[in-house]
Amino acid sequence: MEIVHYPHPALRWKSCPVTRINAALKSTVREMFELMYEAMGVGLAANQVALPFRFFIINISGDPELTDEEFVFLNPEITNRSGTVEGEEGCLSVPQLYGQVQRAESLTVSAYDLEGEGFQMDLDELPCRVVQHENDHLEGVMFFDRMSDTDRKELEPGIDEFETIFRHCQATGDCDSDEELARQLGSLERNGLGG
Ligand code: ZN
Repeated sequence: MEIVHYPHPALRWKSCPVTRINAALKSTVREMFELMYEAMGVGLAANQVALPFRFFIINISGDPELTDEEFVFLNPEITNRSGTVEGEEGCLSVPQLYGQVQRAESLTVSAYDLEGEGFQMDLDELPCRVVQHENDHLEGVMFFDRMSDTDRKELEPGIDEFETIFRHCQATGDCDSDEELARQLGSLERNGLGG
């Protein structure tokens, strides 16, 4: 498992719901936390590791020791969005690129945990921003899609560079083609995690 970079097709995939909580899902989640900590992130969505399923993980502290700050959101739904606030965001799928993004100031998120228990959280501040960012991933939306045209223009050379690197990797045969990656995502969707 690895964190995929833009423009990997998984990042534009509209993820499908998690239908089974099994050992494969649990070990996938554990592995995602490890990857997220290694990359110094505070959130990671399943499609960032090329899995087309509706879940993401967060640990706002970014500290692997603080396991009670770890949350898994299966099939999340955001409601009660309220207010607007601008703040800086980055993304592990486009490392080193940062930009200002407008987000709801507060929200309610409902989801299921790995025990299959439903839970609900009222969030503001950083957790509120991270949950919106990660939830966007499940819809195939990148943070720079939500930036103002002016701010996005500034980021474009950096985004183009990721595109160039990815296409070069495909051209040399070191990375699978978009068609092959889409085939793999489709097959995961049909078969689920762990078959
Ligand atoms: Zn991201």
